[in-house]
Order: sequence, then structure tokens, then C-alpha cells
Amino acid sequence: MQLMEEKIRTEGKILPGGILKVGSFLNQQIDTGFLRAMGREIARLYGGSGITKVLTIEASGIAIAAAAAMELGVPMLFAKKHKTSNVDGTVYSTVVHSFTHGTDYTVVVSRDYLLPGDTVLLVDDFLANGAALRGLVELSRQAGATVAGAAIAIEKAFQGGGDALRAAGIRVESLAVIESMDGGTVTFRR
Ligand code: 5GP
Repeated sequence: MQLMEEKIRTEGKILPGGILKVGSFLNQQIDTGFLRAMGREIARLYGGSGITKVLTIEASGIAIAAAAAMELGVPMLFAKKHKTSNVDGTVYSTVVHSFTHGTDYTVVVSRDYLLPGDTVLLVDDFLANGAALRGLVELSRQAGATVAGAAIAIEKAFQGGGDALRAAGIRVESLAVIESMDGGTVTFRR
């Protein structure tokens, strides 16, 4: 997505440790016109895939997932970050390692909302090592739902998570794929 690459080039800030900050349009302040365009692009990519639900993890995936779900005309569901796992058996849960915080956290989703008949589209803001996305795949597996694929705003290919998931047979579409951020310059995959 051309516009995503332009936004990253003009507004993205490269931080130490391979972190890209996009607080001006995606992660804190949200450019709403651009958010709508992202939703439309994701819906174009997955329009014919029989999606019944869009699934993400709170908090930073929610806006993009909602925009995509609105365009696809389906509900958006977000997994919640929890201290405890499946205490009363009403949720599916798995543990995700946070790349940005360096810690593990449990994510849960209610059994009432993620259903065996669902065909889910997984959405997130960033794809780095792939832990968050693997967590969403695992929650879908526990529910018996079908994963149609993933739509990611920004994939950092140099961390390998996206290509590993593709090699495992999961369709991964990223609106921008960053090959490198070496020397303070963002290089996109062509
Ligand atoms: P992964 O689980 O693929 O290693 O990392 C993806 C998750 O970590 C995303 O949900 C995102 O919130 C966060 N993340 C990973 N890399 C970055 C980054 O460069 N910038 C920001 N803002 N978040 C990131």
C-alpha cells in the first residue's frame, strides 16, 4: 500500500532495538481517513474469503481490525490481555511473548464469541517475530475456527515472523513490508 509506505517514511521514527514508532497516525493519534483506507484495502484483499469475524489483540490492533471489519460487514473481536488464564473455563487462552515489552502475557477470548463455524481474519498493527499472530492462530485453533489469513499494517520482515507463518501455510498480507531499518533508513520489500 503506497500510502502506508509514505506515512512510514514521513512520520515514522526508528527507535533503538528495531522498534518503529508510528504514534502520529496509528498507535496513539489515529489518522482516521487513513484508517478508513486501511480498512478498505484489507477488505479488498480478503473480500472473497468468506470471513465471518475479524480477530485481533488489544489494544493497538483494535482500530485497524474495526476498520477492516466494518468494510467486510462482520463483527470485530479482540483477545484480552489477562493476568490469569482459563480460571472458570469460559475462555480460550494462550501465552504470548511481547516483543516490545520483553515479557509474557496471557491472552483470552470468550468461548461465546469465537465459534467453531467462524472463518476468521487475523489483524494486527505490527508483525515482528510473529508471537502475537501465533497467539491468535492458537486461539482460533482452540475454538475450531478456520483461519483465512492475516492482515497486518506494518511487517518488519527482518524479524522473520511473517515469512515463518507464510512457510507454515498461513496467508499473510501486510500493507507495508519493511526489509531493513539499518542506519536509520527504512527500506521496503519490493
Ligand atoms: P511480534 O509478536 O510479531 O513479535 O510483535 C508484534 C506485536 O508487538 C504487535 O502487536 C505490536 O503491538 C508490537 N510491536 C512489534 N514491533 C513493533 C514496532 O516496531 N513498533 C510498535 N509500535 N509495536 C511493535
